Amino acid sequence: MIKPIYRVSCSPALAACQRLMQRFALWLCDPTTTGAHISHQALQPPVLASVIEADWLWNFLQYVEAGQSLLSRAQTVAAMPPVQKAALATWVQTVTALATQFQPAPTPWPVNRPIASKSDWLAFKTLMESFYKKGFRSGLPFLPNGTPTVAGRVNYAGYVSDFRNAHRVNLTPHAREVCVLCGGPLGDTPHVDHWITKSAFPLLSVCEDNLQLICSTCNEAPNKGDKDVYSDRGFIDWFHPYLRPGNGALQLDYILLPELTVKLSAVSPIDQLRVEKIDALLNLTCRWTREFKAEFARLQGALIRREQRRLKGAETRHTQVEIQSYIQQWQADLAVDEPHYEVHTVLAAALQEPVRIAAWHSELALVK
Ligand SMILES: [Zn+2]
Repeated sequence: MIKPIYRVSCSPALAACQRLMQRFALWLCDPTTTGAHISHQALQPPVLASVIEADWLWNFLQYVEAGQSLLSRAQTVAAMPPVQKAALATWVQTVTALATQFQPAPTPWPVNRPIASKSDWLAFKTLMESFYKKGFRSGLPFLPNGTPTVAGRVNYAGYVSDFRNAHRVNLTPHAREVCVLCGGPLGDTPHVDHWITKSAFPLLSVCEDNLQLICSTCNEAPNKGDKDVYSDRGFIDWFHPYLRPGNGALQLDYILLPELTVKLSAVSPIDQLRVEKIDALLNLTCRWTREFKAEFARLQGALIRREQRRLKGAETRHTQVEIQSYIQQWQADLAVDEPHYEVHTVLAAALQEPVRIAAWHSELALVK
């Protein structure tokens, strides 16, 4: 959220998959569709948009998940009572119109699941999540631009690679990559995050607006984990990676006393609650303060070693002006494309406060 987040070159394939899932789900919810109806032939256009998608989906339905084929899950959904089907169809329409939630006066977001029967919901959920777990892993029936295809299909690995390349802030080979949410290192084991959890909204498991690649620290509890990114008021109090971006809306500052910490606020008052929500979701103030203090400790350690070398060489001790120059030199070398640039920039400002330099000077005078 601290960095811009972009849709990537294969995002249209994900959007096409979302349309396929919506079309299939609504067809299952049609009162005239029964379990016995679901066949390779029945999926052909006009039920699905193309023969390629119908062939792919029929093959996909043969997967066995937890001892049952996806076809049998689809049959369970198709066999639901008409009133349940109608409720699910409404839910499908609302959820797939996610973007409208970020426009004025949206339809209330369905915070409760649409199917009362636990087993029916499980069948629908497993079926929809499998588009991500199985379909996306092995390849969606689309080219990156969303055209149906039998060759050159977009898959999970391709998406991850696309996302990494689109968000690489430093193009030098082997340069560190940065997490778009926290600005820290993306790390060796980044996660594909479902912004809105796929367990509650399995229909969004392959939605282009619901996926992003983030660092494992951001994604795991006690940070994002399975927490909701909406409240009873829907999405109004929340940023969204693509539909209400937070980059540029977050203001980092520092607090000097009683101890040096990072302070997070909103650039505009309209975003204040959204900033508080994103902070609570990802524990940004806490994590950024940790990095802030760690970098300060590193700078302190390096300066103490320099002071010790001076004493050993019978040179004069560091003056306040030299300490300030040390900080300014480090600040001038900060690179916007390195992890934690924003936090280090705030640290540089904090350390140049006259009271902070004086305190540092006094601490350094005690070095022996
Ligand atoms: Zn992160």
